[in-house]
Amino acid sequence: MVGRPEALRARPDLAGVWSAADAVFPVRITRSWWDRMDPSDPADPLAKQVMPDPQELVAAPGDLMDPVGEVASAPVPWVVSKHPDRALLLVTKRCHLYCRYCFRRTHQPGEALDPTDAELDRAIAWLDHAGVQEVILSGGDPLALSDDALETVIGRVRALPSVRWIRVHTRAPVTAPDRVTDRLCGILRDHGPAWVVVHANHPRELSSDVDEALARLVDAGLPVLNQAVLLRGVNDDPATLAALFELLVERRVRPYYLHHPDAVAGNAHLRVGMDEGLALVRAVTARVSGLAVPRYVVDPPDGEGKVDVARWVSDGGRGGG
Ligand code: SF4
Repeated sequence: MVGRPEALRARPDLAGVWSAADAVFPVRITRSWWDRMDPSDPADPLAKQVMPDPQELVAAPGDLMDPVGEVASAPVPWVVSKHPDRALLLVTKRCHLYCRYCFRRTHQPGEALDPTDAELDRAIAWLDHAGVQEVILSGGDPLALSDDALETVIGRVRALPSVRWIRVHTRAPVTAPDRVTDRLCGILRDHGPAWVVVHANHPRELSSDVDEALARLVDAGLPVLNQAVLLRGVNDDPATLAALFELLVERRVRPYYLHHPDAVAGNAHLRVGMDEGLALVRAVTARVSGLAVPRYVVDPPDGEGKVDVARWVSDGGRGGG
């Protein structure tokens, strides 16, 4: 983890904003990520994702506290249910690195970062009662749990009679690639079918240590998908998106989703408009293999779940920055 003094030596202009931003949403940067970015350049696409910005602290039009409607979709704490066949189990709120645009950046100071044993029991009992066939381990980052803790949770979920496969949503292979150990791959493989959905937004995130982590997952027989977020100043041009998606395919990672940025308070400076996003996706689609084209989706605040942006716009559901 990179310490604040080291980070502020690179960006002394952030000394006045760091603590305030950290109090709203933690500022944490892994060494692996730091080594890939130019920390002194505010326009660096990797730095923009992790360094605090004074604009985070300014309210903006369209800001939402619950941008994807998760509060109303939580039948019990630590579960999000938007569809009858699947549900998210939030196993922690901790991450190795905190992305400044994250739609779950609205933690309240002092709130618990992990479920208690009783809360986890209740969440798993709800999944059992609901009879879901797919459980998506999410967070935070599920790989912020120790191997033992993760194996225990996955074992309990896979023991539910209705559950046919699991999905693990994690940015750790990209932010903390050393976390992808052979033991972790074995746990996921042995409790499968397990799909791993990683999260990379820019070609430069795919450094050699990340490549090796992705290869360990794929070589363990785990299907790996990527979800990216469309972000102003990070990947809002066709060449960058095309390069990202092609590099992922080359690494045997299927681009799955390109998310329209969720309008959470504090990320307005990173949002892209939908018409602009649609034009970008059209340009990318015209130049890359079909294998390299993800679905461009929005997760509206009504809690109904992801919708293709093109359909959302044609149905008149404009909004969402
Ligand atoms: S790793 Fe995922 S959950 Fe954690 S801050 Fe980044 S986007 Fe949010």
